[in-house]
Amino acid sequence: MKTRNFFRNNAKMIAAGDEFWAEADKHGLAGIVGRLENGRIHTSEGHSFVNFSCCSYLDLDQHPKILEGAISAIRRFGTLNHCITRARVQIPAMGELEDALSYLLQAQVVTAISANVASSGVLPLIASGHLSGGKRPLMVFDKNCHVSLMHQKPICADETEVETCAYHDLDLLEDRCKTNESVCYICDGADSLGGYAPVAELSYLQQKYGLHVYYDDSHSLSAFGPRGVGYVRSNISELDERTMIVVSLHKAFGTSGGALMMGKRKPEELKTIFRYAGAIGYSQPMNTAAIGASLASVEIHATPELTVLQDQLMSNIRLFDELVPTEQSGFSFPIRFVRVPEADVIRLSVELFKSGYYVSPIFFPVVAKGKAGLRVMMRAGQTHEQISELARMINEITLRSAA
Ligand SMILES: *Cc1c(COP(=O)(O)O)cnc(C)c1O
Repeated sequence: MKTRNFFRNNAKMIAAGDEFWAEADKHGLAGIVGRLENGRIHTSEGHSFVNFSCCSYLDLDQHPKILEGAISAIRRFGTLNHCITRARVQIPAMGELEDALSYLLQAQVVTAISANVASSGVLPLIASGHLSGGKRPLMVFDKNCHVSLMHQKPICADETEVETCAYHDLDLLEDRCKTNESVCYICDGADSLGGYAPVAELSYLQQKYGLHVYYDDSHSLSAFGPRGVGYVRSNISELDERTMIVVSLHKAFGTSGGALMMGKRKPEELKTIFRYAGAIGYSQPMNTAAIGASLASVEIHATPELTVLQDQLMSNIRLFDELVPTEQSGFSFPIRFVRVPEADVIRLSVELFKSGYYVSPIFFPVVAKGKAGLRVMMRAGQTHEQISELARMINEITLRSAA
């Protein structure tokens, strides 16, 4: 009888991953250290490059107001982190941020130090029925969901039944809804390779069968939607008790931390989260620097500056699409995946890097075997000249590699 590795397998993952990481290391494409200056990264060896592999899509991470927000919050609250669980005592900082985020996102918001920590705390409570109406749901994880969600499978499986489904497999989900009293689907909102969750179709299943959905929309917060509420939130008019959205504050939002968006929850359910949602309760909360930075970011989200940044990002995405066609061309999402033969990925990335552009070489196990390529990520702060030059080089070298 199989006694282990039902939902994860380090030996397999590391054996597959190591070969490629060793290659990336050997060619100087991993472990890079450099100072940020004028939109470029400068290494101590004197090389400088434009980062096309950074998720700070609006460049808010270097925004003066956000840096100032972090500093002034430490002064205002007089501590970086006051060590005691929020279930017992807390300084007013976290409440202030959760109120501000709740208003911005039109949801009940609970924060955590990261999206990963939020998911690791909440998914097991959904599995045990404590945040899913009292019944243990069948937990259906999308095959492509983010690793921070995948990691929760074995823990959820110790509370309820867990299954993995093909990418956005709505037919399977409807079938499971028909044959199970309660079902929860776990997937990314906007995923790291350019797809979007079928929010309308899932809402239909939620209304018809009471399906619960746990979305991770870390990739689209701030970059997408009015006031930057993200892809999923902007496609759901009102959050109910069957939908949760987790987001990272560490990507386009430009700060540090994670947030859970929920519909109106009973006070007892919130207490269950604060007391029992794993690291949300027993580990540190967001510190005051991260909170101050996040309060400043919320303020920026409420001004026209956010739309200006979103428009700059879109204009950069469109320019890249005009120059380099990919499967994602036309999407409003900032990530493009340029397919190249697996054997050439590293060499092509090195060539681009030497010319001043860092793009991520992507290969198994990040993507399936035989689907290697270059992941190119647009930001609002890149110039049209930089994008045009990168596109010209990509076209040149992929042509050569195809020849
Ligand atoms: C980056 C990312 C995360 C990790 O966010 P943290 O706040 O750093 O934990 C989680 N989910 C998705 C989909 C991501 O893209």
